[in-house]
Amino acid sequence: MKILVLNSGSSSIKFKLYRFPQESVIVSGEVEKIGEDNALLHINLENESINEELGKSDHQKALKAITTALITKDIIKNIDEISAVGHRVVHGGEHFRDAVVIDEEVKSKIEENIALAPLHNPANLKGIKVMENLIKNIPQVAVFDTAFHQTIEPLRYIYALPKDLYTQKRVRRYGFHGTSHDYLSKTAAKMCKIEIDKFNVITLHLGNGASICAVKNGKSYDTSMGMTPLEGLVMGSRSGDIDPAIIFYLMREGYSAEDIESMLNKKSGLKGLCSHNDMREIEELISSGDKDAKLAFDIFVDRIVKYIGAYAVSMSRVDAIVFSGGIGENSISVRKAVSDRLKPLGVTIDDTLNLCDDKNNRFIHSKSSKISLIRIKTDEELQIAKSTYRLTISNQS
Ligand code: ADP
Repeated sequence: MKILVLNSGSSSIKFKLYRFPQESVIVSGEVEKIGEDNALLHINLENESINEELGKSDHQKALKAITTALITKDIIKNIDEISAVGHRVVHGGEHFRDAVVIDEEVKSKIEENIALAPLHNPANLKGIKVMENLIKNIPQVAVFDTAFHQTIEPLRYIYALPKDLYTQKRVRRYGFHGTSHDYLSKTAAKMCKIEIDKFNVITLHLGNGASICAVKNGKSYDTSMGMTPLEGLVMGSRSGDIDPAIIFYLMREGYSAEDIESMLNKKSGLKGLCSHNDMREIEELISSGDKDAKLAFDIFVDRIVKYIGAYAVSMSRVDAIVFSGGIGENSISVRKAVSDRLKPLGVTIDDTLNLCDDKNNRFIHSKSSKISLIRIKTDEELQIAKSTYRLTISNQS
């Protein structure tokens, strides 16, 4: 059986076709530059990669190009070979605590949440609606970035603001990267051979966007991203936590709300601190003595350590800490710097294991460490495919 996973963003659509129940990837690819004059389709086959210029494309044209290419490249014979489609949807608000099969009500709830995720939900919804027309009668599933965090208790998701803001304006912590934190916590539990409902883990998703999650007894207990993905850790170009009064000070200094929003999302974080948002470049600059890069690295690490310390105390017991995302999976120096700062928790890293740059998930702590340190390659698409399979095909058999 084949399951298509789609991540329909505003300017790109990523896709992966899976074979189930084997959970193997048949093909993956992307249409990029949607909305620009020259959209590009890339398909990665086992021994070949295909690139095709699509011209000016909207979501309709891009998805049609993907499904047509699957047929013309002999990956599937016809569209009905796809048994179900799983969509990444960024914001499920308070309504969705799990993935769901998409119907009219689900679509209208995703639409209701556009106010909370204006940059993401409209493109996610477009992908759903276009696929509905392209593959009539094939079930579609929405998997929400926020759903995993719906187990967080009010004392951790309510901000200390006038309470009407929560009840009337839905201002609260929602958290994001939930599909990744869910996958990482379950994978880590298996590696540690501890049942998930007895497992306490802190998962670090460190990509361009970065967040950290405390998972207690297998459920999200607290997380660093908030009402939007701007809160929390220092990210590639997002500030993470700052004093909110900085915004009002800047407004009095003549900055507009739009300027500040764009600055906090696109010109801050690592990029704001040292003009680079790629950790590889920052590491190179540090080795050539660049002081701004060193300070950016230290601030990035310090924020992570602060959150781990707070979560460790809040959860009472931590079995494992997981490093993931492009930085967590690949940066030896970030894993080392974070772990070295965690000595008060009894954490010690094994430098040889940490150096190992194969792609396997692996433990990287030393024998004496009180908490397991694990490097795991996150796989949000597989998690979406699994949820899609669980809610559609495996339900029918
Ligand atoms: P996204 O959030 O866009 O999905 P990724 O999870 O792919 O991002 O992470 C991208 C980041 O991972 C890059 O910006 C880079 O900082 C970091 N990265 C990737 N490879 C390495 C590496 N070998 N060493 C250090 N950092 C890396």
